[in-house]
Formats: sequence, C-alpha cells, structure tokens
Amino acid sequence: RAKDTGKNNYQFYTAQLTSNAIQKMEIETDLRRAVSESLEEFIVFYQPQIELDSGKIAGAEALVRWQISPERRIPPDHFIPAAENTGLIIPLGKQILRQSCLDFLCWHQKGLGLSRISVNVSMIQLLRSPFLEDVLQVLAETKMPAHCLELEVTESALMKENEQVASVLKQLQDLGIQIAIDDFGTGYSSLGRLQNLPIDRLKIDRSFMPKNAQSISDQALITSVISLANNLNLEVIAEGVETEYQAELLTKNHCQLAQGYLYSPPIPSHEFVKWVEQYNQAVML
Ligand code: C2E
Ligand code: MG
Ligand code: MG
Ligand code: MG
Repeated sequence: RAKDTGKNNYQFYTAQLTSNAIQKMEIETDLRRAVSESLEEFIVFYQPQIELDSGKIAGAEALVRWQISPERRIPPDHFIPAAENTGLIIPLGKQILRQSCLDFLCWHQKGLGLSRISVNVSMIQLLRSPFLEDVLQVLAETKMPAHCLELEVTESALMKENEQVASVLKQLQDLGIQIAIDDFGTGYSSLGRLQNLPIDRLKIDRSFMPKNAQSISDQALITSVISLANNLNLEVIAEGVETEYQAELLTKNHCQLAQGYLYSPPIPSHEFVKWVEQYNQAVML
C-alpha cells in the first residue's frame, strides 16, 4: 500500500504501471489475433430471465467468454474494454449477435418457447460502426425476427452521447427490436430523462439488491425505483438475484423479471437447453 511504504512508492507504482501497460498490450495483441483468425475462441453463454409472477422463462441474456485455451477462459470485464479501445468490438460484437440469434433460433426449433434473447451492445458499436446495417444484415442472414431481439445498452453510456444514440435506438425500436437499459442506477440519470428515450425495459444493477430483510433503506430504494419505472410504463428486470428473499421482495413490489444465480449462472447453449427443459418440467409438477 502506497501510504505505508514511504519512498518505495514511486518504484512500486512504476512497476505496477509498467506491468499493467504490458498486460494491456498483450491482451490487445492476443485479441487482434483471436478476432482476425476466426473468432472461434469467443463463446457465448446464456443466463435465463424469469417472469416473477408466472415463473415462466421469458428470455436469456447472452454473455461472451474468451476461451483462449482449453484451460484458460477470460471473463468479459477483462477484454471488452480492450476490444473497445482497439475497435475490435465491432467485428466481435457482430459475431456475438450472430451467434446469439443462431442459438435462439435453434432453441426455438427445439420448442423451448422463449420470447427473446438479450444481447449486450457497447457504445462504440452504436456510434462507430454502421450499427443499424450490421444488425439488419445479421437478422436477414440468420432469419431472426426483430421482435425476438433485445439490445442492452448501459445507462452510463447512454448519458454520454445523448442525441446520436437516441436516434439510433429509435431506428432499432422502429424495426421491432427491444431496448433495455443495463446497470440502471449506476449512471446518475434521472428517470424523467429516460421518458424521452426509446426504451422498453430497465435492468436494475445488482448493487441495488438488498442483502437481507434487515437492509431496510436498500429495500426502500429498490422498491421506489421499481414503482417509478412502472409508472413510466417500463418493465423492470432485477439483476443479481441470488436468494429467495430477494425474489419474494421483488415479486411483492411488482418487479416483472429477475435474473441471477438463484436460477442459473450463465451457461453454454447446449447446457442452457437442458436447463430450460428441466426447469419447465419442475414448474409443471
Ligand atoms: P452485464 O451485462 O451487467 O451482465 C451481468 C453480469 O452479472 C454477468 O457477468 C453475469 O454473469 C453476472 N451475474 C449474473 N447473475 C449474477 C448473480 O446472481 N450474482 C452476481 N454476483 N453476478 C451475477 P459477466 O458475464 O462477467 O459480464 C460482465 C459484463 O461484461 C456484462 O455486464 C457486460 O457489461 C459485459 N459483457 C458481457 N458480454 C458482453 C458482450 O457480448 N458484449 C458487450 N459489449 N459486453 C458484454
Ligand atoms: Mg447486460
Ligand atoms: Mg448489468
Ligand atoms: Mg455490468
């Protein structure tokens, strides 16, 4: 820790900085290789989204992983920023979208009965690529119906680039694509401001999830966010639901959807199919 080490601070920090800079370069170089080779190292995992009043599975969120070798899987927080800095997020994001549509259609053929698939989109994709064209091309190529696709955009990103982003989102929504605001509550936007944006759903960030029945002020916060969002005619989905207590609190307060380890972590497509079949069987009993 810098405070205790006195004159070694500087040394410590430069060593740290250098190794961070090297790490960053290594990741970027490797990412460039993986994207230019075939994109096969990028695997999409899926996490179910549950309708709280019926218990039905409404959809799934697509979450990418980088399987750099059989033993090494890198989580998205470790390489999405590098993909954004290098622009590699554009081909990578398009591939993730394509794979998610293909997997969704495959589930549909198996009779899984989900309404939609949610795909995370980076602000770099929205602003720099001909994003609308890319999406249209993937939908056409995979024969995916637009209304089965939801795109997740983070709240913090939305607040930065208002005008242009709002117009792209509006065009996407006009095609029938649904728009969700991800990590809601972390970006300091007012709910009133959201009223002017083309949005179907709010995803409350998992940091807002009350730990237990004793977290009274956390409960007040999340219940007021749910009711305000519902008053704006937005559906609410809670992220990071890990306990029965949390699911009950959300249901009681009219939150429509929930996603979290209570139901399932993100899993590969073939496991997801089995998970849905088992879940549906258990709910029917
Ligand atoms: P996110 O979109 O907010 O995704 C939710 C994250 O919370 C996921 O982490 C998920 O695995 C994790 N999570 C789900 N349920 C629980 C729970 O009950 N408890 C806890 N503690 N965590 C839970 P993951 O998969 O590591 O993804 C991290 C972030 O990386 C995502 O946050 C998203 O911002 C980004 N990301 C992931 N896939 C993509 C992608 O395909 N494209 C882009 N642009 N970003 C992506
Ligand atoms: Mg998300
Ligand atoms: Mg989120
Ligand atoms: Mg996040």
